[in-house]
Amino acid sequence: MTANLLGLGSKQLKEFCAGLGEKPFRAKQLLRWIHHAGVDDFSAMTDMAKPLRDRLAQCARVTAPKVIRDSTAADGTRKWLLDVGTGNAIEAVFIPETNRGTLCVSSQAGCALECSFCSTGRQGFNRNLTVEEIIGQLWWANKSLGRGIETERPISNVVMMGMGEPLANFDNVVAAMQLMLDDSAYGLSRRRVTLSTSGLVPAIDRLGDECPVALAVSLHAPNDALRDQLVPINRKYPIKQLLAACLRYIEKAPRDFVTFEYVMLSGVNDSVGQARELARVVKSVPCKFNLIPFNPFPDSGYTRSDPQAMAQFRDVLMQSGYTTTMRKTRGDDIDAACGQLAGQVQDKTKRQQRRMAEVE
Ligand code: SAH
Ligand code: SF4
Repeated sequence: MTANLLGLGSKQLKEFCAGLGEKPFRAKQLLRWIHHAGVDDFSAMTDMAKPLRDRLAQCARVTAPKVIRDSTAADGTRKWLLDVGTGNAIEAVFIPETNRGTLCVSSQAGCALECSFCSTGRQGFNRNLTVEEIIGQLWWANKSLGRGIETERPISNVVMMGMGEPLANFDNVVAAMQLMLDDSAYGLSRRRVTLSTSGLVPAIDRLGDECPVALAVSLHAPNDALRDQLVPINRKYPIKQLLAACLRYIEKAPRDFVTFEYVMLSGVNDSVGQARELARVVKSVPCKFNLIPFNPFPDSGYTRSDPQAMAQFRDVLMQSGYTTTMRKTRGDDIDAACGQLAGQVQDKTKRQQRRMAEVE
């Protein structure tokens, strides 16, 4: 078996080079070729001597998951569907904006956490993505968007907000994020890499210690009774514990606030009274809000809040002093909105069958 170099960080590449009797600086060269330039062919790595290139071609490879679909929406949003084997596919989405370009990256094939409004959660869980499958999404996107060594970077921000719960795949997600941050690879600043979590409290603390990046927390409800229903992991880590973890995280984080995501579900969590309750509950935590219009999917049982309800909800939060943005829906015509990243997952938890049995 040849070694796949795509998922190796600086330290591991140095070890790999040492194994070939090569100097550590080769690791940096490899990182630049693979990640800056998007090169997967060793013979094109022209600043290395030919015998070394030949040896690399024999014992190593650079392999990303295969792209099975590449679609672009009318608004420029672009989505790649990637094959990760055994019938599973994951998605990455690029969202171009005036001053930045954001790539939304997946961390798992499916998700085990069963949030009731999430199509990924509904599909069940198959497995954690490997480091090369996670970084492979950025690698493909960079390559397809035409980034060369000297050209501008179309991707200025990464959000770990695709399929899966990134903190449930901690080691691989952190290793992939280290590559995103590495100057020889993607060179993104910690403030421009955002991890979104449904609230795995111990892992939030670990992230603060091992790889602090910008943090988004999927709150979605102002009290435990409702959050227990929408985000079942709340039964294990209720709001009070979650907010305490956010406060600890801010001490170590590159930003001095956390972003609370709040999906707007009509008649469920979008009343003015709930907005007031929310404003009170998070009082101790420096934060911003991002209100997300619900993306409907078949049999979800939810509908999107109407624009007036969303505006009122936002106004209450703003009047209470919180910066509040409303996420625009993007890429609707290619199902590329966040939370809509369904891919195809072979459910190892057999959730569909269980549901059917419950109904019968
Ligand atoms: N598992 C992580 C990150 C992936 S989900 C998390 O839950 O935070 C990214 C964001 O999309 C989360 O805020 C999630 O709650 C939201 N989301 C999930 N399903 C959605 C839907 N149908 N419509 C709108 N947002 C959704
Ligand atoms: Fe998993 Fe996030 Fe979806 Fe919840 S919202 S099921 S944690 S991907």
